[in-house]
Amino acid sequence: DDRAFDAETRSICPFCGVGCQVSIKTRGDRVVKVDGVNGPANEGRLCVKGRFGFDYIHHPHRLTKPLIRREGAPAKGLNVDPGDWSSVFREASWEEALDAAAGGLKGRGREVAGFGSAKCSNEEAYLFQKFIRQGFGHNNVDHCTRLCHASSVAALLENVGSGAVTATFNEIENADCAIVIGANPVENHPVAATYFKQFAKRGGKLIVMDPRGQALKRHATHMLQFRPGADVALLNAIMHVIAEEGLVDRQYVEAMTENWDAQRDHLKGFAPETVEGLTGIDAATIRAVARDFARAKAGMIFWGMGISQHVHGTDNSRCLISLALMCGQVGRPGTGLHPLRGQNNVQGASDAGLIPMFLPDYASVTSDEVRARYAELWGAEPLAEKGLTVTEIMDAVHAGDIRAMYILGENPAMSDPDVDHARAALAALDHLVVQDIFLTETANYADVILPASAFYEKAGTVTNTNRQVQMGRPALPPPGEARADWWITAELAKRCGLDWRYTHPREVFAEMKQVMPSLDNITWERLEAEDAVTYPSLSETDPGQAIVFGDAFPRENGRARFTPAAVIPPDETPDAEYPMILTTGRQLEHWHTGSMTRRASVLDAVEPEANCSLHPATLRRLGVPAGGHVRLTTRRGTVTLMARADRAVAPDMVFLPFAFVEAAANLLTNPALDPYGKIPEFKFSAVRVEAA
Ligand code: SF4
Repeated sequence: DDRAFDAETRSICPFCGVGCQVSIKTRGDRVVKVDGVNGPANEGRLCVKGRFGFDYIHHPHRLTKPLIRREGAPAKGLNVDPGDWSSVFREASWEEALDAAAGGLKGRGREVAGFGSAKCSNEEAYLFQKFIRQGFGHNNVDHCTRLCHASSVAALLENVGSGAVTATFNEIENADCAIVIGANPVENHPVAATYFKQFAKRGGKLIVMDPRGQALKRHATHMLQFRPGADVALLNAIMHVIAEEGLVDRQYVEAMTENWDAQRDHLKGFAPETVEGLTGIDAATIRAVARDFARAKAGMIFWGMGISQHVHGTDNSRCLISLALMCGQVGRPGTGLHPLRGQNNVQGASDAGLIPMFLPDYASVTSDEVRARYAELWGAEPLAEKGLTVTEIMDAVHAGDIRAMYILGENPAMSDPDVDHARAALAALDHLVVQDIFLTETANYADVILPASAFYEKAGTVTNTNRQVQMGRPALPPPGEARADWWITAELAKRCGLDWRYTHPREVFAEMKQVMPSLDNITWERLEAEDAVTYPSLSETDPGQAIVFGDAFPRENGRARFTPAAVIPPDETPDAEYPMILTTGRQLEHWHTGSMTRRASVLDAVEPEANCSLHPATLRRLGVPAGGHVRLTTRRGTVTLMARADRAVAPDMVFLPFAFVEAAANLLTNPALDPYGKIPEFKFSAVRVEAA
């Protein structure tokens, strides 16, 4: 009923990387409805989170005043009720809180580290990394991409020359074959999944590969439910068939790639028959999949965390890149490589330089030329030394090297692997500043808490999985004394001695354009007028290139590279004590560490209780009825929670969502890292499951 609201604002959904455009309907100071509008990624569609998951912004737990830890407060730990914090924190004015926050950071140089947020705008991400680099003279700044697609980006940069997707997911409309591997888009990228289903409905060959079954299986030509951790073996076997059966696009390989001979020789050892036992997939199916993809006129590959979150995550992505290259499936309509991004601005935050090894637009911190450019722009040359990543920063706290942190919109007390390690690090800091919209588990450890803005209260640009830079507009002001994140970071920077004079995010965007060629021909004014422009945009009227690298790759010689990948086992394999496999992920209704969606009334009502999924046969063996409780134990910890019967999970596996603090999945996960992307192996831990 359009009469039920008095204002309407066009912005972007705050949840996943699909980047659906929304119309936010407000009455007075409340959002009352959210509808999909005709954005380039969603064409009016929304999923349950985007449509119904908005009222968290009005939750009574919203932080509305700056808080300072009381003298004599209990020792830092998970001991603060987010609705009643008064025994641990006291309210403070902005002046006092900013002075206290900056006072504990200023002058500490390499003792300071920063975690920024993929939930903030591009401008806020840019300012955050600038603050750490310019203010403290090092690169110890990172964000949740490290737990997400860092390994995919490492492989893409290495072999293609660019970390972003080569084609929008909507290009599946022009494909006749598509692989979806290590991703569950129906739950995690639901609007993208609608395009995948339509593709299958019109006859496209959909190949789904995942150790866990999923709803997309119903639409798939092939569903390969392979053994967890066997990705590299399976992908090498598929490529082996293509090479052995003469299905390689030789013309493309010769014109556009390098190192094919090494790749071809490497694949000789991966006949499908030799990997059947390891992968759990019969040779005939592997051959059929290989033929379907190689013979497609236009094929795409989509992947998610099931590929990236392994100690061999970079190798997994190397295989997918090689598979596309050998079939010539990049750079034309209906072809491409597309890692499906998680957070609504993880692409943009990474582009903006919120990573320890790269300045904006992936300019290396070790390049003299790059640093000279920043010396001119910022008046301070960035350090020529890669910084520490998310999990390395926690190790550095334990080693006594990092003593103070500024955390904006991240929740490492829930999201880090082996999370007790991270929680102990947070407790050990001399000084922790947390900027967020709720008193998160991480804020429990803070000395100063700065109340920030939710996405529907922000003015700023965001970049989705499709490389579409979109304009986010505020539908409401932040509640109480909460303030915009860019403003808070700028105030801290000034108090730490930096001469910052920003008055609006558009000024930050203009500065970003000076060092980010990806934003060429994209202006703030244009985004205000057009809502979205895909980068690269070749002129002021070009809506942007949905497909890139048709005639050359952005590598020195213009060619993409084959990097052969050997099979590396998971870091921790099941044994007598921990005989099953734990894998973690999201579920449709809940977002990441749950701070937003567990406070969204509709979503919380649908999925209110911590749960895990086990095969019915496993539950029978344990003597636990569906809906009964189980205890999961790994070498790191134990959680007890409700067990759901789910035939999509193999009998020796358990799937555990990571949104529930009362049964935090990351108490259990293995912190072993992929050596290139430094991403933890969230998708494979050895676990013992018992009746509780
Ligand atoms: Fe939001 Fe993603 Fe759902 Fe779109 S698909 S409405 S961006 S959560």
